[in-house]
Amino acid sequence: MQLEANQATEARGAEHSSIYSRKNPYTAAVLMNRLLTGPASEKETRHIEVSLEGSGIQYTPGDSLGVLPENRSDMVQEVLQLLNFRGDEAVKDFYGGALQLREALTSWLVLGKMSHSTVKAWSKLADNVELAALVLPENKVQLESYLWGREFRDLLEQFPAKLEDPQQLFKILPRLAPRLYSISSSQALHPATVHMSVRIVRYESYGRERLGVCSGQLGERSPLGAALPTFIHSNQLFRLPENPDAPVIMVGPGTGLAPFRAFLEHKQAGLGRWPMWLFFGEQREQQDFLYREEMYAWLENGVMQRLDTAFSRDQQKKIYVQDRIREQSALLWEWLERGAYFYVCGDSKRMAPDVEAAVLEAIAQHSGKGPEYAAAFVADMRKQKRYLRDVY
Ligand SMILES: Cc1cc2nc3c(=O)[nH]c(=O)nc-3n(C[C@H](O)[C@H](O)[C@H](O)COP(=O)(O)OP(=O)(O)OC[C@H]3O[C@@H](n4cnc5c(N)ncnc54)[C@H](O)[C@@H]3O)c2cc1C
Repeated sequence: MQLEANQATEARGAEHSSIYSRKNPYTAAVLMNRLLTGPASEKETRHIEVSLEGSGIQYTPGDSLGVLPENRSDMVQEVLQLLNFRGDEAVKDFYGGALQLREALTSWLVLGKMSHSTVKAWSKLADNVELAALVLPENKVQLESYLWGREFRDLLEQFPAKLEDPQQLFKILPRLAPRLYSISSSQALHPATVHMSVRIVRYESYGRERLGVCSGQLGERSPLGAALPTFIHSNQLFRLPENPDAPVIMVGPGTGLAPFRAFLEHKQAGLGRWPMWLFFGEQREQQDFLYREEMYAWLENGVMQRLDTAFSRDQQKKIYVQDRIREQSALLWEWLERGAYFYVCGDSKRMAPDVEAAVLEAIAQHSGKGPEYAAAFVADMRKQKRYLRDVY
């Protein structure tokens, strides 16, 4: 019994303290950066491993890795030119620390997707009626649509203005925030590394190729050996069950798969017996089945008990994870009645609510007690921390 208790604590992860944090990040070296998606995929998803060697950092499945990104140097240069600055002008960061403007634009300030406040602040400098109208309270919708797909350089190009003092930029632009990535490894198998599964944000708008600040950096400017300032973002609300025999249902389409790969590795390492059922979805099986070989190996060796996949674009009618949940609703109810923990990770806007609707339907139908009972059942699961979401 003692062993069991220890295993459970280990499995859930005694929360670890570290000298490293968002304010004092650990500079981790990239050890691996490989493409998970096929050449014909519409997406680009990468498996990235970074080293924790010698850092003493510990993490638990369910945690995320925070990465402090940098703006691309070509974008920084473009902004400097548009503002008519050289880059070596002296400025002070948000805390009064001295630095040069180029560094401020690289590491401190948002140059990508703009906020309302940036456009509002800029409208006061640029003497332009069109821009002045755009920031009026009654034109919120127009402003929102103006912001979609545009970056600070687009605003500077379209509405030039003279900025006397580069320090003003700290009032105009928000602070560049770290990005979180669900950790996709278990430290029980990889003591000195942490894995991420990152989808690179890439799109074209207004005649320019755009790249997500952080995912773009991880995708294009993080070769082997590259240094990344990182920290562990602990998430105690997304943990494997304390009971090592409790069944686990995981719904993780796209990069939502990441924490569940960590869960599966944790079980593979012998830290629990949890029966595990995974729902995974993406666009095309041939191109987008992330970690396919690992998933099949876990099915074969009994780490995973069941895998249901939904590849939306492989047939005419789109099929998503929630459709697979509906197809398996009787079995799902059986698992939930047995006390299964239900985990959802990935898209917060459509996927997570659609999955919840499918779960509610399954409970209503197979319990034979209708929608009110289903709603109460899920509310109860939430209270017992058995319905857990890590959505973004
Ligand atoms: C807890 C948590 C866990 C996460 N785990 C993962 C993970 O495991 N893997 C992963 O890949 N991500 C994960 N994310 C998301 C990740 O943190 C970043 O948000 C993501 O990588 C985008 O950041 P970025 O800096 O690359 O893009 P940004 O520079 O922030 O750009 C993204 C923005 O670009 C705009 N945009 C995107 N597409 C278009 C378009 N077609 N047209 C116009 N505008 C557009 C949108 O406004 C969008 O918000 C997680 C987030 C959270 C909060």
